[in-house]
Amino acid sequence: MNFEHKLTYAQDLDQADPLRSLRQDFLFPKQNRKPFIYLCGNSLGLQPIAASEVLQRQLNNWENLAVEGWFEGNEPWMYYHKALKEMIAPIVGAKPVEVCPMNTLTVNLHLLMVSFYKPNAKRFKIIMEAGAFPSDQYAVESQVRFHGYDPRDAIIEVKPREGEYILRTEDIEAQIRLHANDLALVLFGGVNYFTGQWFDMEAITKVGHEVGAIVGFDLAHAAGNVPVKLHDWDIDFACWCSYKYQNSGPGGISAIFVHEKHFQDTSLNRFAGWWGYKESQRFKMEKGFVPEAGADGWQVSCTQVMPMALHHASLLLFEKAGYMEPIRTKSMALSAYLFFTIGKVNELLGDEYYKIITPNNAAERGAQVSIIAKQDGKAIFEELVVANVLGDWREPNVIRLTPVPLYNSFEDVYRTGELLLEISKRIFKTTSSK
Ligand SMILES: *Cc1c(COP(=O)(O)O)cnc(C)c1O
Repeated sequence: MNFEHKLTYAQDLDQADPLRSLRQDFLFPKQNRKPFIYLCGNSLGLQPIAASEVLQRQLNNWENLAVEGWFEGNEPWMYYHKALKEMIAPIVGAKPVEVCPMNTLTVNLHLLMVSFYKPNAKRFKIIMEAGAFPSDQYAVESQVRFHGYDPRDAIIEVKPREGEYILRTEDIEAQIRLHANDLALVLFGGVNYFTGQWFDMEAITKVGHEVGAIVGFDLAHAAGNVPVKLHDWDIDFACWCSYKYQNSGPGGISAIFVHEKHFQDTSLNRFAGWWGYKESQRFKMEKGFVPEAGADGWQVSCTQVMPMALHHASLLLFEKAGYMEPIRTKSMALSAYLFFTIGKVNELLGDEYYKIITPNNAAERGAQVSIIAKQDGKAIFEELVVANVLGDWREPNVIRLTPVPLYNSFEDVYRTGELLLEISKRIFKTTSSK
């Protein structure tokens, strides 16, 4: 696409954007009474305006029905997750029976590893990306120890090549093949939180299966961001949170995916609880766990109605948008425009002050663009915040800017570029301009 660095051009792109009105369904944080240009949806998505209303409905049910709310009213809590499953499934390319909202992300990662990391003397290793999100690193280390293995022997981390930030698919595949005989599990992120790289999940899954390993993904930065196809790609299991690209509030409910091919496997371990028990007989309160069919059988505790209500409000906006295809189309254009804009800033400054480490190829990234400033990165980031642009800073040196298709505009991207240019000139004390 041939972009232009011009306000009216960005506004024309917004006019032509079929998702433009969705922005009005969100609440923007303000500074000095001016809304932020919010580019931090990779960390915490914005609040849908409808969140309070949908939440209030459940507060009303609680008020008016109290314990009877489990079975009475328009949205009985006992079945509330079923409506959500229908809306979660298209976001991650799954069948509704394969997904279930429950718990929080790292907890679900542990629960799924209980089922799908089954090390034995021969196969006990786990392959993951180096620099995975810390919570995942801690979860995996502690799982490995729990089974009596030393993380130094059992965890294989795939690193980018010297001088590179992005993992090459061929290198991931080569590592999987190298450890073919002792690999129990391939556990990758969908999109890396630091670089914004969207891994080739289908290729990784294929090679993982070829060598006889189980393949799972943490989709914290992928779900609601990129169009994953969990069922068709034959992924064994996955989990994600709903508070990043899915705008369901801090600490919001997580969800899991288990491929239907595992539903009949009675050899899978589970850390069970009463809510995973066969639904029709759950309240017989009998001895001996019998799981509900599908992903619901992994539930442990009773439905977290209030976090689910917040998730519900957000899922309605995904439904309104037409799910991932239109979202992805806009997202690719938005991130490409941000790439162009950063390039323009460099050009106008007369030097490559900003280096983008996110893949240049739009097919290998989601909404997030990670940028390393040649100098004064932290100061530049802080100045952006003062100028009402809220991205985020990741130690040691990365500014993450995330134009989210549901609520960001091309004008947001243009203005961010203008402000970055202005701040850079001030901080770098350069005079070059056109
Ligand atoms: C955000 C994120 C988490 C956070 O986990 P919580 O249990 O929700 O606190 C974990 N893993 C990854 C990859 C993340 O991006």
